Amino acid sequence: MKILILNAGSSSQKSCLYDLKEDSLNDHPLDPIWSANIDWTVANGQGILTVKAKGIKKIINLSFSDNRQGIAAMLDTLIQEETQVIKQLSEIKIVGHRVVHGGTDYSKATLITPEVKATIRRLIPLAPTHNPAHIEGIEAIEQLLGAIPQIAVFDTAFHSHMPLETAAYPIPYEWFEKGIRRYGFHGTSHKYCAYKAAQILNKPLTDLKLITCHLGNGCSLAAIKDGISIDTTMGFTPLEGLMMGSRSGSIDPAILIYLMREHNLTANQLDEMLNKESGLKGISGISADLRAVIQGIDQGNIRAKLALDMYIYRLRAKIGSMLATLGDLDALIFTAGVGENSAIVREKACEKFDFLGLKLDLDKNNNRPMNIDISTTQSRVRILVIHTEEDWAIAQECWHLRQSNS
Ligand code: ADP
Repeated sequence: MKILILNAGSSSQKSCLYDLKEDSLNDHPLDPIWSANIDWTVANGQGILTVKAKGIKKIINLSFSDNRQGIAAMLDTLIQEETQVIKQLSEIKIVGHRVVHGGTDYSKATLITPEVKATIRRLIPLAPTHNPAHIEGIEAIEQLLGAIPQIAVFDTAFHSHMPLETAAYPIPYEWFEKGIRRYGFHGTSHKYCAYKAAQILNKPLTDLKLITCHLGNGCSLAAIKDGISIDTTMGFTPLEGLMMGSRSGSIDPAILIYLMREHNLTANQLDEMLNKESGLKGISGISADLRAVIQGIDQGNIRAKLALDMYIYRLRAKIGSMLATLGDLDALIFTAGVGENSAIVREKACEKFDFLGLKLDLDKNNNRPMNIDISTTQSRVRILVIHTEEDWAIAQECWHLRQSNS
């Protein structure tokens, strides 16, 4: 069965096509037979579409900036020229969308109906860069593929069972009732990594206490007990918690009040500052990309060093907080761009948890580990590096939902 996945970001549109069969649903994620990515950041009014299929990489310049047109151009490459992998678009049987914000309404993958679309629209103020792009994606598919089943897999869903004391903010209760609460994000990745960890450890997920560290451009941790997320570092929006590439993570909220009152900063300026100009980028003054920050450190840049030191300090502090929520730990898991690739971040993050009996095998850590245990045999707590497979996880959810409805 051909399943198309759409993953819309604030400045990009990613997509891939899986060809799933009953026996594909074993322990190993399939590679997509086609994948495409539109980068809208290259120039005003333009985009770059990169398509990979059949061992070929094709780059197409788009002379417009409309996401719906972009999706149409992207899907054309499925049925045309050297990247063609299907004869016609009607071979696609389901479309799965990664949707960032599902509020409190959705705790699992959901068939998209007019009501679901209305909810995604209603939640635009909580995810102003993502939810409009999801609606565009859903409507583009309606136009291009007609009445095909479309399924939303929400980033918030995995955290929807967090206990109230974790979910609520200590502000007047009426705001909680109006939806000002912690939702958590990166749920598809945290959930996938928890399942994969149980597989690697060869133990039932229901017997495990895990901390998953999703460290990419956005960063969040989850405390997972018996397969359920009981705490996470992101909250009402993906801005809370850890220091990230260009996002500040948690800061004293009074700083915002001060900047508004004393420096006349507007809501939009604060939004831009906290989401785009902070984190590694804001402190180092170099880049949101950790690789560039590390190069800066190697060249003796003091602010680059401070940026990495702060990133690690905040990461350790939040691991400590997740640990306190769990009460014990079976495995610490690293995933996403930084978590999978940065040996130094993993080493420094683990350093202070020696007292737990958590011992990193430095050779394994430095040897590009993937989907393996990198702790020593004496370590009481396992340390895993897992390649996150969000698109594959969404494809599986689509398959299961389709099977249960047929
Ligand atoms: P996103 O959160 O957008 O999905 P990724 O999970 O792919 O992004 O993470 C991207 C980030 O991963 C980059 O900005 C970069 O900081 C980091 N990264 C990727 N490779 C490395 C590496 N070899 N060393 C350190 N950091 C890396």
